[in-house]
This record gives sequence, structure tokens and C-alpha cells, in this order.
Amino acid sequence: MSDILTPAQRHANMAAIRSASTKPEVTLRRALWREGFRYRMNDKRLPGTPDIVLPKYRTVIFVHGCFWHGHKDCKNYTVPKTNTDFWTAKIARNQERDQDTWRQLEAKGWSVIIVWECELKKGRLQETVRATASAIRRNGEILRSAQDDRRKAREEYWQARREQKAREESLKAELDAKYHKK
Ligand SMILES: [Zn+2]
Repeated sequence: MSDILTPAQRHANMAAIRSASTKPEVTLRRALWREGFRYRMNDKRLPGTPDIVLPKYRTVIFVHGCFWHGHKDCKNYTVPKTNTDFWTAKIARNQERDQDTWRQLEAKGWSVIIVWECELKKGRLQETVRATASAIRRNGEILRSAQDDRRKAREEYWQARREQKAREESLKAELDAKYHKK
């Protein structure tokens, strides 16, 4: 990167970095597909337009570029020596927005998984896919057990209602028999 960029150059640079950062996302998607997961991509209806959406597991995945999202202690996140304030502020804004997005998604009952670009490099890919797949499955189990609990609670409620009604009817019949006898 040159020392001083015109806004247009800076924009072109950012676009180049952004489109390059879509590749790790594709790598992860393909790996998850091979693991048997089915997903939607870039769902604009959800906060932050998550890269990968797994409705069955109520889980979304963001693949984050280490630089743009400020991956802590990552060698891919080094703030440029020039325009340092600009980059620091920009990345801080991205991080704030990320956190806001996660909060919104979690408030809607979605689990959020963040996968960092550096975790998808060749040497680390397999381990990352394994960890991601197991996190997704775990979310699915939690979701299903919560659904089971709700279903059970619903059944208990209706069962109690039916019993109440039966009691009322039998009481009514009893009273009828007692006071309206011919
Ligand atoms: Zn990183």
C-alpha cells in the first residue's frame, strides 16, 4: 500500500481486499456442504447479512477478514504505519458494528459463530471445519431440547385444561342429578 492514497485509490484498495476476502468464505461453505450442512447465503433479512445461515440449527456464521474486523493478536491484523488513526478508527467502528449485529441476532434467538480468515488457511482448515461443525451441531441439540421442553409444557397445559373441564362437567352432572331430578 502506498503512503498516501487518494480517496479513489483507497476505495479501489478496499474493494480488492474485500473481494479477495470472499475466498475463505467459499472454502468454508464447501467444507460445510461436504459435512452435510445445508444453508442460505448472505441472507439480507437478518441483521448484518450473515455469510452463512443454517436455519435448521438457528445458527449464522460470519467469516471475518482479520484486518477489517481487527482479529486480536493475529499477525494479519497490523495497523498500517501510515494513516494509522484512520485505520484504527475504521476498524474500531467495524468491531462496534459487529458487536451490535451479534446482539441483534442473539436477541432474535440466533447463535453466532465467527470464523476468522486466518483459521481457514490450509494448515488450519481441517481443524476449523471440525470445530465449526461441532459448534453447529451443538446449537442444533440445544435448539431441539428447548423445542421439546416447550412442546412438553404445551402438552401439560392442555392436559390440565382437559382435566379441569372434565371435573367441571362431572360436578355439573352431579348437581343436575341432585337438584333437577324429576
Ligand atoms: Zn486472524
